[in-house]
Amino acid sequence: MIRRTSDSAIGYNGRDESLNTNLPDLIPMSNLQPAVVTTEGLQELIDALGRRGYRVVGPTMRDQAIVYDDIVSLADLPAGWTDEQNGGTYRLAERDDDALFGYAVGPHSWKKFLHPPVLPLWRAGGVHGAQAIPESVAAERFAFIGVRACELHAIAIQDRVFLGGAHVDPHYRARREGAFIVAVNCGQAGGTCFCASMNTGPKANAGFDLSLTELVLDGGHLFLVEAGTDAGNALLAALPHRAATQGEVETAHSVVARTAASMGRQMRADDLHELLLRNLEHPRWDDVAERCLTCGNCTMVCPTCFCTSVEDFSDLADGTTSRSRRWDSCFTMDFSHLHGGSVRPTARSRYRQWMTHKLATWIDQFGTSGCVGCGRCITWCPVGIDITEEVRAIRASDPHKERGHGD
Ligand code: SF4
Ligand code: SF4
Repeated sequence: MIRRTSDSAIGYNGRDESLNTNLPDLIPMSNLQPAVVTTEGLQELIDALGRRGYRVVGPTMRDQAIVYDDIVSLADLPAGWTDEQNGGTYRLAERDDDALFGYAVGPHSWKKFLHPPVLPLWRAGGVHGAQAIPESVAAERFAFIGVRACELHAIAIQDRVFLGGAHVDPHYRARREGAFIVAVNCGQAGGTCFCASMNTGPKANAGFDLSLTELVLDGGHLFLVEAGTDAGNALLAALPHRAATQGEVETAHSVVARTAASMGRQMRADDLHELLLRNLEHPRWDDVAERCLTCGNCTMVCPTCFCTSVEDFSDLADGTTSRSRRWDSCFTMDFSHLHGGSVRPTARSRYRQWMTHKLATWIDQFGTSGCVGCGRCITWCPVGIDITEEVRAIRASDPHKERGHGD
């Protein structure tokens, strides 16, 4: 029975002493008992977020891909669809059930909203004369529905980049601080996923207000819900829900365990910093340069890549000038252009820069790897270059290995 409660004894605030305490990774952060909502309850969650002034964003289907866009109802979600991914390959396929979150990740990541591809910075001219008028900081409040565990880690990485240093990005801060995050634990791994290797998934353990595990069972279509913050707890209390049974908790556990066991890719990650930095002259960089088109797709789809350039525009019609910030990529020649030319003129140097930064020097810079194992760079590389395979190839023929540098 699903009952609407605010602080009911069988609601989220209730305790069930029969809860299986042998499932520590399913105990919510707030140490309260998981709840269960139906699809109707999920619709009420979307409605409630809208009423509270959030711009609700979630997975939708467009141009034969699952992308993040504005949603108002469950009908906007890709019910009954999944994605099939491999190196350089992505296609949608019908599922044999009505799962709403039965896919892995698509080409979009949430950085599209928190760190937009184009951001106006200032304008001058016209009625403003020569004075540069800064663009106002947009205080849009996003509610993200369907954030995967790897994406929570990617957001945490971008938090460190934009908020963690001496120079805080006010645009990112305004969007990030107001965001409400509904995570979804993955019910299946994509063909290029390797979050289990990077210890970033498939279970969301932190960084969410609410997290869902979708259970498509003979007895109904349910979502096991855990709250990660007071805001999540308060919103859950306003939804129709009941306490999860031990069987539902165990089923949710098995969904995540099955996903973890079926990752499309694997990558040993414990020694990447040393492995890559002692192999800066490895012949594999020449090999990958033969294949790499330096198109920059991998950096555009990567949820942690953050590099930007600025562009100035002059409008001869009205005499105004404006400056915008836009995503850039270490794969472009212009990105490392200094006086006299680019310091990374070859595909070899640019691919090596990207991969060694992502997997090695990022750790020196920000304290973690820059890769969360989402697999997007593999799927959306037009020639199917696979970061896990490149690491494997370097490791397999590491000339320093015999000198006691591991396997
Ligand atoms: S490097 Fe590739 S797998 Fe790692 S986070 Fe970026 S897109 Fe995902
Ligand atoms: S690795 Fe692939 S996606 Fe990245 S720049 Fe090279 S060709 Fe493009």
